[in-house]
Amino acid sequence: MANLIANIDLVEEVKVEENCAIRVSKETDAAGKKLYIESYGCQMNFSDSEIVTSILAGEGYTTTSSFENADLILLNTCSIREKAEHTIRNRLGHFNGVKKKRPEVTIGVLGCMAERLKSKLLEEEKMVDLVVGPDAYRDLPSLIKITEEGEKGINTFLSREETYADISPVRLNSNGVTAFISIMRGCDNMCSFCVVPFTRGRERSRDPQSIIREATELFENGYREVTLLGQNVDSYKWSEEEENNKARLERNGDSEIINFAALLELVANVDPNLRVRFSTSHPKDITDEVLYTMKKHENICNYIHLPAQSGNSRVLEMMNRTYDREWYVNRVDAIRNILGEDCGISSDMIAGFCTESEEEHRDTLSLMDYVQYDFSYMFVYSERPGTLAAKKYKDDTSPDVKKRRLQEIINKQQELSMIRNKRDVGKIFKVLIEGRSKKSVDQLQGRNSANKVVIFNDNGYEKGQYINAKITDCTSATLLGEVV
Ligand code: SF4
Repeated sequence: MANLIANIDLVEEVKVEENCAIRVSKETDAAGKKLYIESYGCQMNFSDSEIVTSILAGEGYTTTSSFENADLILLNTCSIREKAEHTIRNRLGHFNGVKKKRPEVTIGVLGCMAERLKSKLLEEEKMVDLVVGPDAYRDLPSLIKITEEGEKGINTFLSREETYADISPVRLNSNGVTAFISIMRGCDNMCSFCVVPFTRGRERSRDPQSIIREATELFENGYREVTLLGQNVDSYKWSEEEENNKARLERNGDSEIINFAALLELVANVDPNLRVRFSTSHPKDITDEVLYTMKKHENICNYIHLPAQSGNSRVLEMMNRTYDREWYVNRVDAIRNILGEDCGISSDMIAGFCTESEEEHRDTLSLMDYVQYDFSYMFVYSERPGTLAAKKYKDDTSPDVKKRRLQEIINKQQELSMIRNKRDVGKIFKVLIEGRSKKSVDQLQGRNSANKVVIFNDNGYEKGQYINAKITDCTSATLLGEVV
């Protein structure tokens, strides 16, 4: 699960991004109660924070970027690695001071750490008043009332239905051009290293009509790109009949189940000027039908995030990834054959999983060479309590070996990113302008269909506009271009 507001789930050793919070940057100037919310981790969490903000807006809360004058402080947390939880505990320590100064302020922990620890969090962190899991955000208003009566509020019930389909998210930290749309929740895979199935529950897909409605509203409000979010978007599946035994959803006169390829097409048909991206794909479920649907629609971006995690079949089996190296390579070949060499491919890689040998580590490096990834999110294996791996395997790769292997994977990726970007020099790409370049006020930035950042001189263009840029130079992270 990974990239936008961007590359949240990045290299642990290099940037520790996942421990970096995204805070609300915009004050809403109503006189109501003030909400301060920080979001950590993956895009799903950012999308959830927008849903939480919408639910609380209905209770009269407005957002503030300063926790000093907030009535309600919420941390939407990640539990994917030990370090992510450490960051939250440090942050709570920080808010303890606020609580001492203003005992009436309410402090709440949301998201995966809340779901994993439940009431234990209230015992361990005395300043916390609220613990609410990812499926219980509708209960926030009544839980807050409980805390106003001096009690602690907790709800970590995991649902089999909840998709928040009827709630219009309040866009936080938005550039007004790109937005996330969550299309499903939970995950039915049981990768042995992963806490997500325990913190986000079983898979359920959202009603496609509500997704199309949200995409249409965003387009009408000037947004020009949506990213369809799910832990494993390829297993998206919706059928009206299955949901509530009513008449099947009509499409092209045949009654049909809406799978991910069909949903992609429905969203692409909202408007040809609305770009469509999606994350995250699963190698065992990505179909040729999805690839041909991408090929058919110019506005479905030519980029796939396809986490491999390892390049060795024995390690993949221990990870319970349900595919082996050959299967993964076959999927990559299909992507290259159907969508061409310019299709951007990125991955997640774990270094130093239980019992991984030096040779098996080199299989990961050789897979990276074979695929030629444009970029990757790379981590050391972090044992998570309650996961299959924690129960079955010894975390026997030493921290030094993990660190060295991770650095080798990072070096390999930087080498490949440069090779892939150099291929683009001289080419012309359609770029959606997202805003000013971080590096220079005279330059703008946007991304091409392959999800690469392109920087170019600002000659009076507007964000949200499409331009054609000829690539003149590159770094391993960025393409430099001129508008043609
Ligand atoms: S696919 Fe695997 S790694 Fe991804 S969220 Fe599901 S269990 Fe976790």
